Amino acid sequence: MIARLIQRVFGKKSAAAKKSRLQKIPLAQHGLSRERVLPCALKVTDTLQQGGFAAFLVGGAVRDLLLGKAPKDFDVATNATPEQVRALFRRSRIIGRRFRLVHVMCGADTIEVSTFRSNGLVTEDDDDRATDATGRIVRDNVFGSQEDDAERRDFTVNALYYDPTSQEIWDYRGGVADIERKTLRMIGDAATRYREDPVRMLRAARFAAKLEFRIDEATRAPVAELAGLLENVPPSRLFDEMLKLLLSGHALRGVHQLRAEGLHHGMLPLLDTILEQPEGERFITAALHNTDLRVQAGKPVSPAFLFATLLWHELQSDYKARVAAGGKPAPALFEAMDAVLDRQRERLAVPRRLDGMMKEIWSLQARFEQRSGSRPYRLLPHPRFRAGYDFLLLRAQSGEVAQELADWWTIFQDASEETRAAMLLPETQGAPRRRRRHSKKPLVAGAEPAAGT
Ligand code: ATP
Ligand code: MG
Repeated sequence: MIARLIQRVFGKKSAAAKKSRLQKIPLAQHGLSRERVLPCALKVTDTLQQGGFAAFLVGGAVRDLLLGKAPKDFDVATNATPEQVRALFRRSRIIGRRFRLVHVMCGADTIEVSTFRSNGLVTEDDDDRATDATGRIVRDNVFGSQEDDAERRDFTVNALYYDPTSQEIWDYRGGVADIERKTLRMIGDAATRYREDPVRMLRAARFAAKLEFRIDEATRAPVAELAGLLENVPPSRLFDEMLKLLLSGHALRGVHQLRAEGLHHGMLPLLDTILEQPEGERFITAALHNTDLRVQAGKPVSPAFLFATLLWHELQSDYKARVAAGGKPAPALFEAMDAVLDRQRERLAVPRRLDGMMKEIWSLQARFEQRSGSRPYRLLPHPRFRAGYDFLLLRAQSGEVAQELADWWTIFQDASEETRAAMLLPETQGAPRRRRRHSKKPLVAGAEPAAGT
């Protein structure tokens, strides 16, 4: 018992002393001046420091500013407890249960303020914590020193602390040098850190793609063996992480990175099959490329649309199998949708609130084939027309349907009444047309073996 305690206290100390060597890097060396920080974040660090606390900008913001990129958000780390932070800012609230953070608002901006914490390995009887007496246990969340806080972060480039007052960067793990080398390096033993939290493997793929960094060999190597651990991650967390990757503005590179590392198996098992077919590869590439362009242009991207593209080919093969087994097209399509979404939810949980829109995008596809009579007019006011049409464009881009069909809709939707009337195709089989109850024609064009080829 005592031996274990001694080992824990001294073992940890000596390990930490060996690993982290704090460098305080001055402005003249790193060039990141205070003016580049969001005023709201400066207000937060200034106020905390005036209140007698340590306060730094930390994480992705410091990394991205050093890389000359616009940070997505500004996070602040401090030795003040959430209650102490809360007391300093009128417009603030404590959020989170497991990890309690404070959101401080100024104008439309929100700054996330977190108290320095350790990896959860420090226990109450660990006298390390006595000096940083802000520490108390909140569930498995343990406050710690600034150095502990650096140690529990994932990559060296994510463990940089910027003090806007001194304009120094506090670098415990050589993160600034890794930024210069464009290298993603896990803090500590990579395999251990992946076991602690397998999502870090996905984060490695995401950051490598987003930052165009290489993954350090010792950080990359264990992934091949440990990728299977993603199966133990709650499907909802996988969804959140995958969405971050898809909305990063570098989704195309990110998905290829996932595949290169063998990380997609637990999440989107069919990615392999899709990407091995030239048409599938073209479709996914077009979808992700479009998404990246939209994100980079600051335009909104709909997660439902994205997952509708990622699951489209799986939907079609399920649907084809049902029709081949004698199913009627319309019910077969809806059964296939439910089957695909249910299967997907076991691995990476696409939230149910997206189901409706995904199904609408999918089921609209057959309606784009109908270009005679009043049907095209009835499609135009459909609330999902735009999403369905964008989806159709991707199918045309990948060669799944004729480009002519997509072009027809491009013109038809904005054409004058006269042009529209002239564009309508003649009714094909017999006249006059009645609504047919049971169409023999597959509802999904791709379900016809010869379609689009
Ligand atoms: P982004 O620009 O994508 O937001 P980020 O680095 O800010 O990148 P976040 O997910 O916002 O990433 O996390 C903020 C910081 O928290 C990270 O920089 C990292 O230091 C730490 N962090 C987040 N997730 C983990 C994790 N799973 N394990 C260890 N540290 C983490
Ligand atoms: Mg962030």
